[in-house]
Amino acid sequence: MALADSFYKSKKRILILEAGFEDWREQSQTIYTGTTSGYGHSEIDKDRTRQLGGSTNCWGGSCVPFDPIDFELTENGRNLWPISYQELMPHYITAGNFYGIGDYFSFKHNMLAHYIFSDNIPGVAQKYWLANNKNKLFKDVYPNLTGNRSNIDLCLQANAIDIDFENSSSIKSVIVENYNQTKFSIKTKKVILACGGLESTRLLLNWAENHSQFSKILENLGLYYSPHIDIRSGSLVSFPGAINNIDSLDLTKDISALPFFNLSFKKSDQDKYLNSQWSLRARKYGIRGRRFWLWPEQLVENYSKQEIALMNYLAKENQLGEVFDFIVAFDQTPSSKSRVTLGVKKDRFNLKKINLHFHISDDDIGKIKNTYREIGRIFGQNKIGRLSLGEIDNYLSHNQVGAHHHTGTIRMADSAKYGCVDRNLKIFGVDNLWVCSSAVFPSPSQANPTFTIMALAKRLAENIDNEKLHY
Ligand SMILES: Cc1cc2nc3c(=O)[nH]c(=O)nc-3n(C[C@H](O)[C@H](O)[C@H](O)COP(=O)(O)OP(=O)(O)OC[C@H]3O[C@@H](n4cnc5c(N)ncnc54)[C@H](O)[C@@H]3O)c2cc1C
Repeated sequence: MALADSFYKSKKRILILEAGFEDWREQSQTIYTGTTSGYGHSEIDKDRTRQLGGSTNCWGGSCVPFDPIDFELTENGRNLWPISYQELMPHYITAGNFYGIGDYFSFKHNMLAHYIFSDNIPGVAQKYWLANNKNKLFKDVYPNLTGNRSNIDLCLQANAIDIDFENSSSIKSVIVENYNQTKFSIKTKKVILACGGLESTRLLLNWAENHSQFSKILENLGLYYSPHIDIRSGSLVSFPGAINNIDSLDLTKDISALPFFNLSFKKSDQDKYLNSQWSLRARKYGIRGRRFWLWPEQLVENYSKQEIALMNYLAKENQLGEVFDFIVAFDQTPSSKSRVTLGVKKDRFNLKKINLHFHISDDDIGKIKNTYREIGRIFGQNKIGRLSLGEIDNYLSHNQVGAHHHTGTIRMADSAKYGCVDRNLKIFGVDNLWVCSSAVFPSPSQANPTFTIMALAKRLAENIDNEKLHY
């Protein structure tokens, strides 16, 4: 939708091929099934939707740009991202206007700068997601998109299943099949694959089995998968009043902001920490009465003895310390062991289904613990409270720590040696095929992916429309 929106003044004719229907249907959704292995991960047909508007039919709508540090990360001395933060910035603004949150970077910062903690805390950045509650479902954007824009068409139930090549490296048509076994061949000059993080990869893996044009990307295709590492281990017992506010704030009738924080660190600390995203949940519902000096029998079970002792210890002026749980999402160091491969089972279009193997390296587990410890140290030093690490290893082994942010597997790089698409998102070795999806992210960041997918979409559409992409 973000791509098509950019072509509304264009002379080009745009056709959106949408595999699903306008609403959710079993026969479309079932194509998304596959298997998972490795660390706990949600079932891959549950956390995405194959219908008009895609997974925005079930998303949270929260948008935040990547951090500058994400674009500075290196792998064996080589920059992971072939593009810079500055290069993407103007496109975040266009993307924000499209989604209806406006210019993220100038939006009422003052109101939110000290929302969670009243003072600046050195080493911790206070941030927020923006969501437009009216525009959350992208399928609702479609009628506005086409309105009187006669150059944009939509074809529903149109499953792209294969491609035909005109010459050795240029696609001449896309093969499409509906649910009544009718097949079409659609002639095209340019193809943008925007089928979501896992499905774009599945299509390319299947196509690569029959088309040698993909041989250049085979070495990297499917590798470096990360859904963010989601951890809910540990807790914070804060000094009374140290945490201002953790609830969402309505900035306008439609736009709301939700606060979070993260550990800010330098590129030179990349070996110690992972970029992370922390939100707090108050656990106060368990307290029967907020009395000074709390005894275990006054509490509902969900406080540990250690937390009760700390609540009492941190009490001030007749107020107890307060307990918060965390929801933390971690960036991940790209690992080739975390990957998507084809299985033997096939869907109704004869395309193989995927197995998703989610791997987390021991190194990253060490960095997660370091990040917890450093946040804990900063909180202690700045009189926010005491943080406990919890049982991170135990949590990782027994919980679903991966879910719906499907990044990596078709990553962007300067050469085919390290990735599958170039800095302009074009597949190496094919002249007219681009990928627009979180699958192209070389690293996931702490940030939720969709704002960056939209920014990349805006950048790609602008480049294609202005014929800026010459090879
Ligand atoms: C519960 C949940 C909460 C989330 N919350 C957030 C959030 O708060 N913030 C955030 O940034 N992200 C969030 N996400 C992630 C977000 O939904 C995705 O990042 C986003 O939808 C990806 O957009 P996409 O267009 O790349 O892929 P999708 O939304 O998956 O869209 C892909 C489209 O391609 C179609 N398609 C697939 N295969 C074919 C084919 N062969 N031929 C033709 N069409 C095809 C599909 O039907 C679909 O319409 C959430 C996800 C979930 C599940």
